[in-house]
Amino acid sequence: MTPTPTQVAIVTGASRGIGAAIARRLAADGYAVVVNYAGRADDAAAVVADIEKNGGRAIAVQADVADPAAARALFDRAQQAWDRIDVLVNNAGVMPGALPHLADTDDATFDRLFAINVKGSFNTLREAARRLQPGGRIVNLSSSVIGLALPGYAVYAATKSAIETFTHIMAKELRGRRITVNAVAPGPTATALFLDGKSPEAVERLAKAAPLERLGTPEDIAQAVAFLASPAAGWINGQTLRANGGLV
Ligand code: NDP
Repeated sequence: MTPTPTQVAIVTGASRGIGAAIARRLAADGYAVVVNYAGRADDAAAVVADIEKNGGRAIAVQADVADPAAARALFDRAQQAWDRIDVLVNNAGVMPGALPHLADTDDATFDRLFAINVKGSFNTLREAARRLQPGGRIVNLSSSVIGLALPGYAVYAATKSAIETFTHIMAKELRGRRITVNAVAPGPTATALFLDGKSPEAVERLAKAAPLERLGTPEDIAQAVAFLASPAAGWINGQTLRANGGLV
């Protein structure tokens, strides 16, 4: 009998935070993992070393997902390494430390958020649509802030609304290939992206806001992503799963 080939997952923005937890979790589930990063090469190398120490397979690949050529090269590198791509987790994303109202948001902030969060996801989704194996999985990272509609989050939430729209439409566009496209929308999760720029009081208030009365952990979110990537989620397609302790 021919052994099942190792399945391959690309996780964007996996040098730290939620992406690093997703990469570790998918590696533990048996995927060979491409640990993508933008600038933190040492952190990405540490995630790869950790996966290998635990018997998994991973490579670190630098690519700014906002650049279409770099996104293409990221997929090329995955195919060179393992000859196939089964899963894309679109996790790379940025949120500004300061969250002024829309009226006070500058052009550079708007352009950066849309370039990385929206164009970055578009770039990798386009490659995935062209290259994923039949039966593959795409999981995009949205945010529960769409449901919360918190003042200060207008531009960031708008980028995530675009990602949810990509999710729902691509699920239909990939008809006939058994590829599912879903999104996970975390609530406040204890990573640098969430904690940077917030006072301890603001963090405490948001931590207590969910009925489960704590912040999410990167591992909480990684479990939800791993479920959607798994055979167990084969009938879930075109959905957004909010993982936020019941916040919204
Ligand atoms: P972190 O800031 O901890 O990590 C972000 C990751 O994205 C890093 O690995 C970073 O790489 C990478 N990255 C940033 N820009 C690019 C780029 N242009 N190209 C490739 N990689 C890039 O964020 P989180 O782990 O908190 O967030 C992960 C995702 O979850 C994001 O999409 C975020 O919007 C979403 N999310 C997070 C929530 C939270 O409370 N933390 C809540 C809701 C959603 P490098 O280190 O090399 O720069």
